[in-house]
Amino acid sequence: MTKLNSERRSLLKVASAIAVSGVATSFGCAQKGNYSSAIGESFVDRDEFVIRGANILSMDASIGDFVRGDVHVRNGVIVAIAKEINAPGVKVMDANGMICMPGFVETHWHLWTSLLRPMMSTDDNKRGYFPVTSALGRHFTPAYHYASVRLGMAEAISAGATTVHNWAHNIATADHADAELRAMRDMGLRGRFSYGAAQGAPNNLPMDFSGLAKIKSQWMPNDGMLTLGFCSRNIGDATNPLRGNISVETARKEWAQARALGLPITMHTSGASPIMLLEKNGLLGSDVQLVHPLLTTAEERKILHNRGVSYSMSPVGESQRPASAGVIQLAELLEAGVKVSMSIDLTGTYNVDFFQCMRFLYHLHRHRVGNRIPLTAKRLVQLATLDGAVDLGIANRTGSLTPGKRADMILVRTGDINMAPMADPYEALVNLAQPRNVDTVIADGRVLQRGGQFTRLDYQEVLREAIDAGKALQARGAG
Ligand SMILES: [Zn+2]
Repeated sequence: MTKLNSERRSLLKVASAIAVSGVATSFGCAQKGNYSSAIGESFVDRDEFVIRGANILSMDASIGDFVRGDVHVRNGVIVAIAKEINAPGVKVMDANGMICMPGFVETHWHLWTSLLRPMMSTDDNKRGYFPVTSALGRHFTPAYHYASVRLGMAEAISAGATTVHNWAHNIATADHADAELRAMRDMGLRGRFSYGAAQGAPNNLPMDFSGLAKIKSQWMPNDGMLTLGFCSRNIGDATNPLRGNISVETARKEWAQARALGLPITMHTSGASPIMLLEKNGLLGSDVQLVHPLLTTAEERKILHNRGVSYSMSPVGESQRPASAGVIQLAELLEAGVKVSMSIDLTGTYNVDFFQCMRFLYHLHRHRVGNRIPLTAKRLVQLATLDGAVDLGIANRTGSLTPGKRADMILVRTGDINMAPMADPYEALVNLAQPRNVDTVIADGRVLQRGGQFTRLDYQEVLREAIDAGKALQARGAG
């Protein structure tokens, strides 16, 4: 059997397993699945229902919050939010004792590395993120990408995400891209897929953009679920030989091609700061997202504000770095009026926990800055939801509970032992909550988790697939 046939068979095996488990295999939103809730009513995709009796945090200033209120959802859209909604005959989702809020909007995550968790260590530099990804990344088949993205997105759902930005910087072929996109579609979350050159791609060659228009037309039928972006390698940074690093001349070519296709651009700024170089070459704009704001200067922040550039912070991963890498500059960015958002980055050496991300930012801010620059728990919840949607350019359809927006929301239990008794819901979310308190996850009107259980996903099958792929990958890497 040829390698390609082998991979195709493996993907087909995966696809048939998904079909058996009741998850759609392509453009999953079109498939209706019946499932039973652990609590009360059962819901089908894009059902009409009223979330009843929740503590509503809309993150929309014109709607405000409700200590006790209802949310009416129909055909994937939020149609009304009020203290009490009278909708005879409509199914009810009892949310008594729960916070109802927008789902978390994650803005930078290398989902293809999810299955590498057992290979990574924080104690052993040889098993750090860069040595492991650069050694094994080039051995990834499309089937491994599929298994890895699904594993990461399962954890995303369980942690309350409704949008993820898949920073896919290991796309060797069109089949690799298709595998990641199929996984995103199958899992049912909203997202951006940012296409990046494969691990080990020659730094002196521009990325091949020839397949991107096709990807956009095939995988993004304007249903608002997936959008396409471009991952740029670092520019002018020789601090880490294991990271992709291109010259400003190559960047000019690549960024021009991305812009000709209307694709937003994202790039890490770890290592030497490229911001002045980007500014000098006229490359910055509101279509640029930078990642890891650790070493920016006041002058650079002013430029970022003026150019409308956004900055994504990955607080848990960033706090694992040595002091020489810099500190998370949330206070400085907020003071300068730079657009900010929150991201997971990777899961090799920590878990997916948006509450923990907010908590890290809050504690670090209080430790470093105190009250000199005010930061509230509510502002952090906005950072983790609406600000992410603004960063990804999708705030017209998600990021807040607003009538007319898509129904991307979560219910968080407030009576659990680590949350109760609750007073201020924002304080509780930032200082007390954990992923295990996420009861219900609804994305685009589809209930993906209810009663803390996946409704459309066979997690054991996802886990088994990822473990098998990881073992096969290690064997290929050793061979
Ligand atoms: Zn990253």
